[in-house]
Amino acid sequence: MGITIKTVGVIGAGQMGSGIAHVSSLAGFNVRLHDLSEDRINAGLATINGNMARQVSKEVISDAARREALDRIQPAATYDDLSACDLVIEAATENEEVKRKIFTNLCPSLRPDAIIATNTSSISITRLAAATDRPERFIGIHFMNPVPLMQLVELIRGIATEDPTFEAAKEFVAKVGKTATVSEDFPAFIVNRILLPMINEAIYTLYEGVGSVDAIDTAMRLGANHPMGPLQLADFIGLDTCLSIMQVLHEGLADTKYRPCPLLVKYVEAGWLGRKAKRGFYDYRGDKPVPTR
Ligand code: NAD
Repeated sequence: MGITIKTVGVIGAGQMGSGIAHVSSLAGFNVRLHDLSEDRINAGLATINGNMARQVSKEVISDAARREALDRIQPAATYDDLSACDLVIEAATENEEVKRKIFTNLCPSLRPDAIIATNTSSISITRLAAATDRPERFIGIHFMNPVPLMQLVELIRGIATEDPTFEAAKEFVAKVGKTATVSEDFPAFIVNRILLPMINEAIYTLYEGVGSVDAIDTAMRLGANHPMGPLQLADFIGLDTCLSIMQVLHEGLADTKYRPCPLLVKYVEAGWLGRKAKRGFYDYRGDKPVPTR
C-alpha cells in the first residue's frame, strides 16, 4: 500500500536536520523537529529562519513563503509529538549506537504505516533497519550539505525495503525539488565512498608535512578546479562526521587504504570539529578563517 506523505518528522536539528526541515517546509510539508533539548531545537529553528531570510534577500523565495513555511514547522519535545508523521527522517549524530537507540525508542510512538528514513552518511541501512519494527518501511534518504543548496539526494534501500517505501521516498525527494540517485547499501554509498578518502588523503598530506593547510587547499582549488579545498570541505562537513565515515569504510571494507589519518583523530579528540565548533583546520573565531597549521 502506498502512503501519502503530508507530515514529516526530523530527528536532530543540527546542520543537516535543520536543512531537511527547511526544504520540507518550503515544499509544503508539515514538519515536526526533534532534538535532545529545547535549546537545540530552538537553535535549529533560528538557523532555518536565518537561512530563509537570506533566501528572501536573494529573491529565491518570497517573504510570504518564508512565513508560511516557518508556520508549518513545530518543535517536537518527545517522540510522541511525532505520532502524526507519515515519514520520520533521522539526522542525528553519525554514531550507530545513538541511531539504533533512537529507532528502538521512536517506533512505539509511530503509526504502523509510517516510513522511517535515515540521513546517515555511511552506516549500513540494513543494520539500522534491524533496530526498527519495520525494516520493510525503512530507507536511506541521504541529503548533501548544505541541504537548501545541494541538488543531489542518494536513495539507499536496505535488504528488506519494499517498493512502496522506495516509491514514497522518491516522490518526497522530487517534491522537495532534488534529484535522486540510487546507491546500493555498501559503506558510505557513492558520494562519500569517493569524497572521504580524498579528504583523508589531504589530511595525510598535511600530517606528513607535504604542504600547509593553505597550500593544500589552494592546490586543489586552482590545480583541480574544486570549488572548495579538501580541508575547508572537511571543516564544513564536520571533522567528527569525517572520522566516523572513515571508520565505517575502514571497518566495513577491511582495507588499510581507508585508515583514518591520526591527525584527523587528534583534531576530533581536541573538539576541533570544524565550522560548527568554530575551529578545525581553520579557526573561524575572527572575521576571516585562519589556518590552524
Ligand atoms: P550535527 O552535529 O550538526 O547535528 C546532529 C544533531 O543531532 C545535534 O543537534 C544533536 O544534538 C542531535 N542528536 C544527537 N543525539 C540525538 C538523539 N539521541 N536524539 C535527537 N537528536 C540527537 O551533525 P550533522 O552534520 O547535521 O549530521 C547529522 C547526520 O547527517 C549524520 O548522520 C551525518 O552523517 C549526516 N550527514 C552529514 C552531512 C554533513 O556534511 N555534515 C552530509 C550528509 C549527511
